[in-house]
Amino acid sequence: MTDLYSMLPEEVDKIVTSMNQPRYRADQLLRMLYREFPKDVSAMRQIPAEMRNVLYSSGYTVGSVNEIHRVTSKDGQTTKILLKLCDGTLIETVLMQYRKGTSHPRSTICVSTQVGCQMGCTFCATGQMGFERNLKAEEIVAQVLHFASILQERGEHVTNLVFMGMGEPLANYAETIRAVRILTHARAFGLGQRHVTISTVGIMKGIDRLADEDLQIGLAISLHAPNDKLRRKLIPTAGPSSVKDLISATRSYFKKTGRRVTLEYALIDGVNDSPEIAAELAMLLKGNGAHVNLIPVNPTSGSFKRPRWKRITEFERVLQESDVNCTVRVEKGSEISAACGQLRTDITESAG
Ligand code: SAH
Ligand code: SF4
Repeated sequence: MTDLYSMLPEEVDKIVTSMNQPRYRADQLLRMLYREFPKDVSAMRQIPAEMRNVLYSSGYTVGSVNEIHRVTSKDGQTTKILLKLCDGTLIETVLMQYRKGTSHPRSTICVSTQVGCQMGCTFCATGQMGFERNLKAEEIVAQVLHFASILQERGEHVTNLVFMGMGEPLANYAETIRAVRILTHARAFGLGQRHVTISTVGIMKGIDRLADEDLQIGLAISLHAPNDKLRRKLIPTAGPSSVKDLISATRSYFKKTGRRVTLEYALIDGVNDSPEIAAELAMLLKGNGAHVNLIPVNPTSGSFKRPRWKRITEFERVLQESDVNCTVRVEKGSEISAACGQLRTDITESAG
């Protein structure tokens, strides 16, 4: 069995040629897949029945996810869904919308790349559930298309894509990059590469490899602390990549790709949010050009708390006074467990 959503357009061309069909059939097939989002081969009505039958009998399939639960935030801007994969495992995907006036909303999809995660970050619900398996490219693509189809019904479309759901994208490098190539290919989903961001806990080898790809995607590194001692408390597996290495990786990524790296910093009450730690971070980043995204932590079942607002703005002020570019990202939809891994934890725990 091969899912057509695992294939790059050049690979689809080859299948079509091997079926002795003209090349325009490949374009027709791709248009169908990425504009109509069929859930199985028999739903692809615009393809001649004969070709559909050959696809079917040759073991080609489409569709690897099924929605089993959906929650929408009170303001309607954040929708989180729980998807069931073919083997019964559950993953989360989130849609975050931002409307400015009456214009078309920015619609960002946050995808998962693994079922669970091996990194074990102490404040992260996914990190606390352990690791089950890597997702295949088609399972990553299917998350985006699932929301694309929902948005299409409302006359809207996907504008941005972030790899910030469950799992560590660079620990599932090949399938993640394949999904990026499919989703950004002009003959497939056609999302602009500049509208895609991969977030990593800081896997050095993966960051170096990514900088050498011919891609124009954004990179975010989850830093969370200005020194290794504190960082390793929050990310027990951070061992091989030091804060120093990560900061130099931001520079080399910028040099190679022209894209500035974002540093993510989850602010946790009494752990990494003091003015002294802010000053240490400011010293580290002065003149670096990186952008810091401060994320007040979304409390999971662990013992971490979100700092008071005054403490957050004080942290921000210390960075800004040293000319370190930073913004506070107020997590939207916290009442619907929007932090990565939380919905799955809530649902499976309440199901007993
Ligand atoms: N594994 C990757 C990408 C997925 S996590 C990474 O760690 O970067 C995406 C972002 O959500 C990371 O910056 C992560 O630190 C953050 N995150 C995880 N749990 C969180 C929580 N409870 N509150 C706020 N941010 C959280
Ligand atoms: Fe994995 Fe990212 Fe969660 Fe850490 S924060 S456990 S790397 S998903």
